[in-house]
Amino acid sequence: MLFPKQVEIIDVSPRDGLQNEPVQVTTEEKKKLILRLQKMGVKRIEATSFVHPKVVPQMADAIEIIQFCHEIEMNFIVLTPNLIALEKAIDFKVPQIAVFVGASETFNMRNIKRTIDESLSECTKIFQKAKENAIFIRAYVSMSFNCPFEGNICFEKVCYVVDHFVANGADEVVIGDTNGQANPRIVYDRFKALKERHPYVVFVAHFHDTNGFAFANIIAALQAGIDKFDSSLAGLGGCPFSPGATGNVSTNGVVQLLEDMNIQTGIEIGAMKDATILTKKMINKLEGRG
Ligand code: MG
Repeated sequence: MLFPKQVEIIDVSPRDGLQNEPVQVTTEEKKKLILRLQKMGVKRIEATSFVHPKVVPQMADAIEIIQFCHEIEMNFIVLTPNLIALEKAIDFKVPQIAVFVGASETFNMRNIKRTIDESLSECTKIFQKAKENAIFIRAYVSMSFNCPFEGNICFEKVCYVVDHFVANGADEVVIGDTNGQANPRIVYDRFKALKERHPYVVFVAHFHDTNGFAFANIIAALQAGIDKFDSSLAGLGGCPFSPGATGNVSTNGVVQLLEDMNIQTGIEIGAMKDATILTKKMINKLEGRG
């Protein structure tokens, strides 16, 4: 098997993780979490989101979190689902933005109340403006393997969204197994085909551990040449619009696995264990996760 010497772990705990937990975490606790991530060696995090606090109350402190990341010089990503959110990102000097479009029409309608084409056309405008302001663009394809409403998602549907992102200049494309139904075979095939289709595009794998396959999927993605992975401490997260989806693959699990295989993550195991304990306490889930 072929393995890279090192990989990048993008920790999504503060946004994708906490947003999808039922527990309300205070701004101070979030800052503590971000500091821990920095201390353990994470170089890039998904920090927060500019979505309406009525929709996602957990992200109402977005501006404070952004200012904090600037203060401690942490590189970060902010979810900006529309042009209004992007304007705010520009105002607050956000270095990296993220957008989401589902490869499943039904998921897209339920999640963001837009068709795939409507979402992509909004993305075109967002990308253009982000580029004018030299902001890094991370583009997620949600439900890239399976959808809770439509079942298996064919590769052509994934390519439809990926091709649009690439044509409009996304800096990296994240392939999300949002409901955690992928298996190593499809993961390998899909990433290999995507890399052949777009040899110069940076792809990131975003797995959820619903069926306990996330670590096997990571090995399969590594074999297809992927060396960037999203994860969250203690497996925080889920998906409110995706019934039954469990959390993201856990940062602690991924790092331990990769480091045991002599693949460098740049993350310090001791500090990571402390951060994991803090996270579990934060969400009152001392057992059964991550
Ligand atoms: Mg996720």
